[in-house]
Amino acid sequence: MAELKRLSESRDLTRIERIGAHSHIRGLGLDSALEARAVSEGMVGQQSARKAAGLILQLIRDGKIAGRAILLAGQPGTGKTAIAMGLAKSLGQETPFATVSGSELFSLEMSKTEALTQAFRRSIGVRIKEEAEIIEGEVVELTIDRPAAAGGGASGSGQSSSASKTGKLTLKTSDMETVYDLGAKMIEALMKEKVQSGDVITLDKASGKVTKLGRSIGRSRDYDAIGPHTKFVRCPEGELQKRKEVVHCVTLHEIDVINSRTQGFLALFTGDTGEIRGEVRERIDTKVAEWREEGKAEIVPGVLFIDEVHMLDIECFSFLNRALENDMAPILVIATNRGITTIRGTNYRSPHGIPADFLDRLLIISTQPYTEEEIRKILDIRCEEEDVEMSMDAKVLLTKIGAETSLRYAINLITAAALACQKRKGKIVEMGDISRVYQLFLDVKRSAQYLMEYQSQYMF
Ligand code: ATP
Repeated sequence: MAELKRLSESRDLTRIERIGAHSHIRGLGLDSALEARAVSEGMVGQQSARKAAGLILQLIRDGKIAGRAILLAGQPGTGKTAIAMGLAKSLGQETPFATVSGSELFSLEMSKTEALTQAFRRSIGVRIKEEAEIIEGEVVELTIDRPAAAGGGASGSGQSSSASKTGKLTLKTSDMETVYDLGAKMIEALMKEKVQSGDVITLDKASGKVTKLGRSIGRSRDYDAIGPHTKFVRCPEGELQKRKEVVHCVTLHEIDVINSRTQGFLALFTGDTGEIRGEVRERIDTKVAEWREEGKAEIVPGVLFIDEVHMLDIECFSFLNRALENDMAPILVIATNRGITTIRGTNYRSPHGIPADFLDRLLIISTQPYTEEEIRKILDIRCEEEDVEMSMDAKVLLTKIGAETSLRYAINLITAAALACQKRKGKIVEMGDISRVYQLFLDVKRSAQYLMEYQSQYMF
């Protein structure tokens, strides 16, 4: 358990993302009716695909879609990965999201089915509950027997009729000592403020003044720092006792690794997890099932995103067919930019290189090419994300390049042009910087043309 705790804490650190290709995507950009806003949460256009992804999101939240699969199909650079990313972000931090590229599954390190099993188990979360000490500075929920604590403090306040009531309050643990010291005084203040069960309050250490912040709704969504299962209870002697139920969220894969390697959870960060023996997984599945029965753990089905799904062979597809039948299966989102092509490992051709029986399981969402205006907006967002200031003319030129070559190529030119600008000690990227890097770095079309012209000079 201690290792699981350390692990769930260190995972929060790994979530701090550097500026990556999709770091500007913060969600699907939908309104409360699940309609796609034109530009929102870093997302631009692609409205019907985003709306479809929003419905999937709703089904996931309602727990109605475990074990299903969604295919994002569309030309390169039309935002398939961006939409999968947006979906993951909208699901929140606790929902595991694992991504793997079709070609990554074929490595010498491990068999493809082992790689797929690990990917599946990385996208199945286990929410484990345990009791622990409260750390100074945390925000906790408090269950307090108000009248008993009130002792002299509440006397004369006219509230004695509520002598048997139990209130549920939230306090900052940094004020914990105050709570201990000022038991009666605090209760007096609580009563004065008419604090109700479920209210969120802070207590000023010096004066003992209670400030009502609002209501704690369900899992305290308004107050992120509040531990949802944290409790103080009053013990018979009239002393407040610390008792906190903490929740760790880990993935099945993380539990596998901790239990299969001598170096423990650190292997997860080096990525050197190797193959995991079937017996280890069986043992863990049995243990998790026990925890679930005892109410100590819950399964959180996450999302597994497989990009370049046309790279999977027929054996991988039968693995996926079987894996989706499991009652803990995550939601599988796959993406491809291929049309009708050969199914790897066979001589058959089929749409997206996916076998007919697997295609039949899929909800298909297609993505469309972008208009110039949409390209312009995405480039604007990327400039902001990369902290690059660009003149209007330069943006117009870059948009043109994006429309004629590819969105991804134009996005890549932003960083390069900013460097060119920095080199000439400029502050704002100008047209000249864009044309300079356009000449230095070839897009796919020009690169292919160059190869055709100079083919004879390359090795065969
Ligand atoms: P491929 O088929 O080549 O894998 P893809 O369809 O997955 O391509 P992405 O990688 O999602 O395309 O898009 C290319 C770049 O454009 C990424 O940086 C992505 O974040 C950004 N992008 C794509 N679509 C959008 C969008 N609708 N809004 C904002 N950014 C987008």
